[in-house]
Amino acid sequence: MSPIKTRFAPSPTGLIHLGNARTALFSALGGDVFVLRIEDTDLERSRAEFVAELMNDLRWLGLDWQEGPRGAEPDPDWYQSRRGEIYATYYRILEEKGLAYPCFCTPLELEVSRKVQLSSGRPPRYSGRCAHLPADEVRRRHEEGLAATLRFRVPKDRVVEFEDEVRGPQRFAGEDIGDFIIRRADGSPAFFFCNAIDDALMGITRVLRGEDHLTNTPRQLMILAALDLPQPRYAHISLIVGDDGAPLSKRNGSRSIKQLREEGYFPEAVVNMLARLGHHYDGAELLGLPALRAGFDIRRLGRSPARFDVSHLDHWQGLAVRGAADDTLWHWLHAETRAVVPDAHRAGFLDLVRSNCLFPKQADAWARILFTDELELAADIAAVAQAAGEAFYLAAIDAATESPDDFAAFLAGLKRRSGAKGKHLFLPLRAALTGSLDGPELAKIYQMLDKPRLHRRLAEFTYESE
Ligand code: GLU
Repeated sequence: MSPIKTRFAPSPTGLIHLGNARTALFSALGGDVFVLRIEDTDLERSRAEFVAELMNDLRWLGLDWQEGPRGAEPDPDWYQSRRGEIYATYYRILEEKGLAYPCFCTPLELEVSRKVQLSSGRPPRYSGRCAHLPADEVRRRHEEGLAATLRFRVPKDRVVEFEDEVRGPQRFAGEDIGDFIIRRADGSPAFFFCNAIDDALMGITRVLRGEDHLTNTPRQLMILAALDLPQPRYAHISLIVGDDGAPLSKRNGSRSIKQLREEGYFPEAVVNMLARLGHHYDGAELLGLPALRAGFDIRRLGRSPARFDVSHLDHWQGLAVRGAADDTLWHWLHAETRAVVPDAHRAGFLDLVRSNCLFPKQADAWARILFTDELELAADIAAVAQAAGEAFYLAAIDAATESPDDFAAFLAGLKRRSGAKGKHLFLPLRAALTGSLDGPELAKIYQMLDKPRLHRRLAEFTYESE
C-alpha cells in the first residue's frame, strides 16, 4: 500500500489553540508522511511571528513534519502567499475550458438577490447573471475597469458524492451549490481553491480537518475534477466543545498551546488528552507518540462533538509529572526554585513534587516553605496552630531535639509528652511547620526542614502569653 500523506495547513493569524492542535495531532497520527503548509493568503491577518510560534508549538508537542518549511521565511514551496503564479495557471486553465467566468455583480446586487431568494423561501445561491456574458461584453467591462470576481461554473446536474472517513457517505447536489467565487475581485484566491490545489500538488492523500470545512469539500472535489488533479480522501473530525456545550473558545476554557507550555503542562499531557478527545484508546496509561500512533484508527474517531474538560488535562498532567525523569522534572522547575533547593535534598524534593504538584508554581511554594524563612501563616491557619497550646510546642521541641533524624521517633516522643493524637497531633504540626493544613507527608517535611528552622517554627507558638 502506498504511504498515506496527511497535512496540517494552518492560517498563521493567531496562536495555535487546542482545536487546531488536535487537528494537527490526528493528522500526524493518521498518516505515514506528515506535511506542514502555511496558508497565509490573508495578507492582512497573517503574521510571520505566528508561523514561528506554530512551528515551535508543533515541535514542542512532538509533531515534527517530514515535509514543509523549516523557518518562518516565506518560500514558494510551502507558503501560499508565494504561490500566486501556480494558482493563476489553474485559473487560466479553468477559464480556457469555460469552467470559470468573470462575474461583475457588485456586492450590493448580490445582497439584494440573496434577500429576494431568502424571502421567497429559497436557499440563496448565485443567480447565474454573469454566467453567459458574451466575450465582447466581458472585454468591454474589463476595459471599463470594472472589478470582477472569478466564479466556478458548477455543473447543475452533477451530484458530488464522497465517503467521508469519519462521517460516512456524503452527497451534495450541484444545483444546491450555485456557481461560487474562486478568486476575489481584488485578485486574492478563495481559501478553499488554493487549499485544494495545494493538497493535490503536494500529493496529500488524506485530508483530516474540522467538520466546519465539510461544506467546502464538494466545491473542492469539483475544482479538482475539472482540473484533472488527484483527489484526497477526506476525514472531517468533530469540533471540540466547552463544558457549556458551545464550540471551544477562549470564553469557555480554550487556551493556546503556548499558554499551556508556559503554565508548565507537559507536552505528553496535552497530547494524551487531545488524542482522547473524540478518539477511543484502550487503556488509560500515558502513551508516547509511537504508541498513540500504533493505537490510532481513523474509524475510532467519533462523530459527536468532543467535550473538553480541564480536569482531564490535569489528570494526564498528573501522570506526566509522576512519570517524569529526575532530570526532566528538575529542569521543569523554575530557576528560582532550583536555586533554593539544597543538593542534599534534591531527590527528596523531586519526590515531593511528584506526589504533590501539577505545576512548577506549586513547587515554588513548597520550596519556599521548606528551604527559606518566608513562611506566612494566614489567620485561620495560625489559629489552628495556636489552639494546640504552648505545652504541645515545648514537647515538640524536646522530641525534635531527641530525634532529629527520625520522624517516627519524633512523633512517638511528641505523643508521649503531649498526649495529643490524631488530628490534634498532625494539624497543629502541619500548620506551624508549613502554614498549610494539607500537603506532602509530614515525614518528608520533617526530613527536609533544616533543624534550626524547624525549631524556630515550633518556638513561634511557645510564648502565647506574651
Ligand atoms: N487554513 C485552513 C484553516 O486553518 C485549513 C483548512 C484545512 O485543513 O483544509 O482552517
